[in-house]
Amino acid sequence: MTQPDHPIPQPAKKPSRNRHFWRACGFLSPYKPQVVVAIVSAFLSGLIFTLGLSAMYPIAKTLADGETIHHWVETQVATYQDGEVPLQWRLAEGAIAYVPVRPLYTITFMFGIITVLAIGGSIFRFCHEYLSDKSAISAINDIRKTLYDHVLRMPLGYFGKHGTSDVTSRLVGDSQALQDGFKTVLGQAIAEPIKAGFALLLAAIIDWRLTLFIIIFAPAMAAVIKKFGTNVRRASRAALQTSSTMLGQIEGTLVGVRVVKSATAEEYENVRYGKIMDSLQRDQVKMARYEAFSTPTLETLGMLAIGCVLIVASYLIFEDKSLDKSGFLVLLACLVGIGESLRRVSKLNNVLQRSNAASSRLFELLDMPVETRRDRSGEGKPVTGFDRDIVFEGVCFQYPNTNHLAVDEVSLTVKKGQSVAIVGRNGSGKTTLLALLPRFYDPTRGRIVVDGLDIREASLAGLRQQIAIVTQDPVIFPGTIADNIAYGRTDIPRDRIEAAAKQAFAHEFIIQKPQGYDTSLDGLGGQLSGGQKQRLNIARAILRNSPILVLDEATSQVDAESEHLIQQAIERLMHERTTFVIAHRFSTILAADSIVVMEQGRIVGQGKHDELLRSCETYKQLYERQLVGSGG
Ligand code: ADP
Repeated sequence: MTQPDHPIPQPAKKPSRNRHFWRACGFLSPYKPQVVVAIVSAFLSGLIFTLGLSAMYPIAKTLADGETIHHWVETQVATYQDGEVPLQWRLAEGAIAYVPVRPLYTITFMFGIITVLAIGGSIFRFCHEYLSDKSAISAINDIRKTLYDHVLRMPLGYFGKHGTSDVTSRLVGDSQALQDGFKTVLGQAIAEPIKAGFALLLAAIIDWRLTLFIIIFAPAMAAVIKKFGTNVRRASRAALQTSSTMLGQIEGTLVGVRVVKSATAEEYENVRYGKIMDSLQRDQVKMARYEAFSTPTLETLGMLAIGCVLIVASYLIFEDKSLDKSGFLVLLACLVGIGESLRRVSKLNNVLQRSNAASSRLFELLDMPVETRRDRSGEGKPVTGFDRDIVFEGVCFQYPNTNHLAVDEVSLTVKKGQSVAIVGRNGSGKTTLLALLPRFYDPTRGRIVVDGLDIREASLAGLRQQIAIVTQDPVIFPGTIADNIAYGRTDIPRDRIEAAAKQAFAHEFIIQKPQGYDTSLDGLGGQLSGGQKQRLNIARAILRNSPILVLDEATSQVDAESEHLIQQAIERLMHERTTFVIAHRFSTILAADSIVVMEQGRIVGQGKHDELLRSCETYKQLYERQLVGSGG
């Protein structure tokens, strides 16, 4: 098992409001260089934007005040004694030497400068947007890889409790929401405040009194933004939760679409799906309402601010005569720039809240412990083969959140090469008992010892390599038929794959497929019959060549020809292997070296068929009621 490339960021020591999101930002750290270049580009583009605004000043001066920029600078300089002229005016005096004097030329010249600045600004803006989006996409890719790897290594119990669709929704939907958050934060959260900061600075240079007056509105706006953000976060978490319920519903009904159809339950499922969608719609509409409400509220506040600023500005221009019209025009342009930035930043908070909710769900998964290897080295004692016996010693197991033991004090010894048929009613604990052997779960009490080694001490990978599992419902993965037989290994030569298929009586049907072993099963085997899928699974187990076999015999009926081939394939598979088989066919039971009868998690009988018929009431009943009709 490979370790994820990127370690999972740890939670911050000091909890903050968006702590899950900030923690997720840890995934951006491998992309620090490009994030830094993006930030520097944002800074430069903000600076250039402000330079462009200040370049408008000479134009405004010429147009609004009817005064040339040269005359204005000369008048200002003349107010000082020689040698006392401040630096900015000396710089201005130097700069205007390059500006043509005639008004038309002044304006054309300044327009040229503004165009050059705009082009420069656009280049930095491109660098900023491209690099920040690239970092966001790469970080989310890493999160998805880490999460997938983590999920595959999580104990089986999690999937039993939460279902697979919950995990799917977190992997797909929540990581998408987080990607939006990364993009917005890197894109706008950095650029907009920088832009607004520069524009505010220019405004303060033009007239600090008016600028100070504008700043008074900021706390009110911040309070509104915060309030809406909290509401959006709550609604967003609820919506994400409902989305995973929706996925569960879709997955469940599509996997079981035959059952839905045969039970004519389309309407029933429609109603159920409708209810989930209604709830999702409510959450999403609520979110949209908060978001839609926040923009006009802020805009109204903004209008109010501009109105007040206009009144104060009019006073300064007409009564106090301390501000000229051109200055006011440029200041107004700064205000529009600041307002636009604020509007974007206000939306940003909502996106941040949504991403925070998504991050918290992602970390719920990432913080789940993966399968444990009990010893401290982390890998356990190596297991290289199987030589003697498997011993269950007083093994008990209880599923979390249940109040009864699924496996109750089971003691059983199986010698190498023996086959054990396990029989019992549904729910008697057969599947659970055999799930303990590859450590899908660990016993609540007691232990399982293989060749004298408690399997909790063993290397998990080593232990599992000794065990091949053939499940009741054959599993087909995306890929070709050959990939499915060699599953998980790419180094197996084709002749070994074919040999395994031949032994499993699968070769004949495979070569009849248009592309033979290279036929793609990307529809998860939709084009194969149940019996063919079962034989592919058996071929997989034969190729795996593990000394221990756990077999859950299929109960579903396949056609007689297939049935016969499967039976033969299973016999070959069991040959010379230590086999545990959850048996449903009478022939399998009779062929086993020993039969174990289970009832409510306990072993209530063990021995050969004839013995058990005499001594075990449960076995007798099972034999009479079920087995007789089903294959004996
Ligand atoms: P069998 O294979 O004999 O049909 P199982 O091993 O599947 O029986 O089930 C044994 C008991 O454990 C049953 O009571 C069943 O309801 C319970 N059980 C099985 N799987 C789970 C689970 N994931 N969570 C909680 N209880 C479970």
